[in-house]
Amino acid sequence: MSISEEQRIYLRGKLLQERERYRSRIEYLREESFGQDRTATIQELADYDNHPADQGSETYERESDLGLLLEARDHLKSLEEALVRMQDGQYGHCSGCGRDIPFERLSSRPETDVCVECASQD
Ligand SMILES: [Zn+2]
Repeated sequence: MSISEEQRIYLRGKLLQERERYRSRIEYLREESFGQDRTATIQELADYDNHPADQGSETYERESDLGLLLEARDHLKSLEEALVRMQDGQYGHCSGCGRDIPFERLSSRPETDVCVECASQD
């Protein structure tokens, strides 16, 4: 583990803060796109996942909101996964090569689970 206990606590704080921010963002985007109709939200999301490249002109506005929503949802997921890794003691280790991820990188992207070298190989 290359990061100290203080650094870990600092990064955990960042992750929790970011998670709250994204939860409200997702809530906002949902209201914005679908109002109170949660059933439609789930169905639309499922449809969107199946046809990510299909952007019909009249539904474009809505799909671009959906794009933002899905992006935010993915980001929230990686934040939550990072918090789980932190609990498991896996946090800060690259899932690609197993080496320690430098604190500087974790500080700017606390949700990351790969080092710069492995990220650039994707
Ligand atoms: Zn790596």
